[in-house]
Amino acid sequence: MFGTMTTRREFLKTGSLQMGFLSASGLLSARLAAKDVASAKPSLGVALVGLGTYATQQLLPALKQTKHCHLAGIVTGTPEKAAKWQKDEGVKAANVYDYKTYDRIIENPDIDVVYVVLPNSMHAEYTIRALNAGKHVICEKPMALSVAECDQMLAAAKKSGKTLSLGYRLHYDPFHQEAKRLGQEQVMGKVKLFEGGFGFRAGDPTQWRLRKALAGGGALMDVGVYVIQAARYCTGEEPVSLTAQEIKTDKVKFAEVDETVLWQMRFPSGVLASCTTSYHCNTDFLQVACEKGRYRISPSFGYKGMKGEVNGKPMEFAPVNQQAAHMDGIARQILTGEPALNVGGDEGRRDMKIIEAIYRAIASGREEKV
Ligand code: NDP
Repeated sequence: MFGTMTTRREFLKTGSLQMGFLSASGLLSARLAAKDVASAKPSLGVALVGLGTYATQQLLPALKQTKHCHLAGIVTGTPEKAAKWQKDEGVKAANVYDYKTYDRIIENPDIDVVYVVLPNSMHAEYTIRALNAGKHVICEKPMALSVAECDQMLAAAKKSGKTLSLGYRLHYDPFHQEAKRLGQEQVMGKVKLFEGGFGFRAGDPTQWRLRKALAGGGALMDVGVYVIQAARYCTGEEPVSLTAQEIKTDKVKFAEVDETVLWQMRFPSGVLASCTTSYHCNTDFLQVACEKGRYRISPSFGYKGMKGEVNGKPMEFAPVNQQAAHMDGIARQILTGEPALNVGGDEGRRDMKIIEAIYRAIASGREEKV
């Protein structure tokens, strides 16, 4: 969707950088090695659920670059994909499921983690079924369609004792880690204003992203959630209230879901945030004004190619494969107990609470409490 297919050359380049990034932590490796020897399980088996664009073009290549995960199974409703992945990726026939046989994953010791990459309306159900089958879960964003669904997912995780993580890959990107550090550590004084936008032009009018029953909402649920996340991690605060406006340029194509949403958030310390998301056009930036300076990342929210600056000076970071770093971070949490970076289910619930408040503010035309 955003970001392009990685060429073999780039794949090898980012792969070697990624290995360097991970091997930098000697302490971690030592802990992991000790634990791995003890458990005789050096790498977690991941089953991808829903073999669409993101699973195929991003997660599959990323899994080949991870240190602590590997592709172990697939869940798909398309028999041709099942055959292709068995042939091309060496997935064992016994580790191939469809949506009816999915619950039998409980019997499969090869699969430790289920990664739900389905349309948004299916996130809650397939996450809960995997947790009930005793598997750790990574669920794509947005976490679900409502706070009520998030609560059911969190309750299932608690009951099962397994981890529930979100597909929030940007916590493992060095540009966003720096944006978070600069804001939360008040390197240039207190944050005063956050501005951010993420949008793209939605093409195919028949895609599930434009159907409310499958997507839950439009641009806001799909990519606006990245802007909500960034406003929260650049300030280190939770918004207390917000106002919001929706604008449609095409009332037929976007009859069921939002096309463009603008919203403004107030935070407890007085920080303000001005945010945009859209299916109408490309926009991709975050900018933070602090008491004694400012920083900006644009492009900001894609898989690679970020450009950042702090008071006009470029941010210099080697690119990482976000998805590989993200899955390895979650695997380390499972294997060694080292906490993953703000990608837990509780984070997804906080974002969903804000999304619900934004839709309420659009409907009421008033400032709404979060
Ligand atoms: P796609 O439409 O490309 O793939 C979704 C897959 O889900 C389909 O290929 C299909 O797989 C399966 N599926 C099952 N039921 C349905 C149905 N009723 N309609 C459509 N598909 C169905 O979507 P994406 O891969 O772009 O997105 C999937 C999820 O990943 C979304 O929640 C999205 O928000 C998230 N995402 C996250 C990104 C990130 O950067 N973190 C980036 C892109 C997406 P099969 O044929 O195997 O059954």
